[in-house]
This record gives sequence, structure tokens and C-alpha cells, in this order.
Amino acid sequence: MLQKTHTLAGVVAAECVIIHFNQPLISWEAGTALLIGCIVGPLADIDKKGSTMARILLPLSWVLQLLRVKHRTLTHSLLFLVLLGYLLAPLPEFFYWTILAAYASHPLIDLLNDQGVALLWPINKKFRLLPKPIGIDTGSFQEIVFRIILAVVAIILPFISLGSF
Ligand SMILES: [Zn+2]
Repeated sequence: MLQKTHTLAGVVAAECVIIHFNQPLISWEAGTALLIGCIVGPLADIDKKGSTMARILLPLSWVLQLLRVKHRTLTHSLLFLVLLGYLLAPLPEFFYWTILAAYASHPLIDLLNDQGVALLWPINKKFRLLPKPIGIDTGSFQEIVFRIILAVVAIILPFISLGSF
């Protein structure tokens, strides 16, 4: 999936956390959470040479390249998510879950991709949610449709839960 699709998924994940914690939408906490969603959503693609995240975090992506970490493996794995959970433990609960949910949204929607994700890395088996022929190819028309759906969800979600905002 493209960076803009992951950004939207990160925003939707952040909105879910905002709703779960009954955080008012007009608050600096909610604003920060949405910003975190935008930034953390595409983060796992730091393992992809030339991706926006790899270019922004160049020293880190170089380290991954030196270690020959392949795309959709370590940074897209459950193991990495658990490690991230431990690392972020000192954070306040609201931001802890915002970052974790936004990060998890990435491998979650990549599971719709026809290439699959090595969720159980270092075991290299790739997992997919859709059969390969109908999987969403990166940059394809299906991805555009999927992105529009995510955008609609991102816009509607705060209104659905207006009572809690
Ligand atoms: Zn990815």
C-alpha cells in the first residue's frame, strides 16, 4: 500500500483510540493523536528502499538495508509490535495505545495486499487476508477505492460517536 493509504489507516486507528478513551475531539490530546496517526501509520515501510519513511528516517533505513531486512518482514511483524509495546510502556496510556494502534494498522491493511506480510517473522511465511488474485496491488485502482473507503470512515467516525466527543 502507498504511504497516503497508510496515513489514512493511521488516522482511523487514532480516531478509534480517541473514541475508546472518550477524548474530546477538540483537545490537544486528540489533535496530537491524529498527528501521531498520520506519522506512525506509514512508519513500517521504513524497510522499503525509496519509500517516504525510508527517506525521512534515512540512517535507520540504511541500518535495515545493511542488515538485509526485506520488505514486509521485521517492521511488519507481531514480534516488532510486541517489542514496540515494551519500549513505549512508560508513555501515558492514551498515547501508548494511539501509537500501537496506528503502527498495527500498517501490517493489518498490508494483509489485504496480494504480496502478503511475514507477520510471524523471523518465520518467513507470508500471510494474506484475500486470495492472491483479488489482493490489492500497491498503487492499483483497487487501492484507490480502498483509500476512498478509509477516507470516508475517517470523516464519518467522529460524527458516529459524536455523543462521546
Ligand atoms: Zn508496508
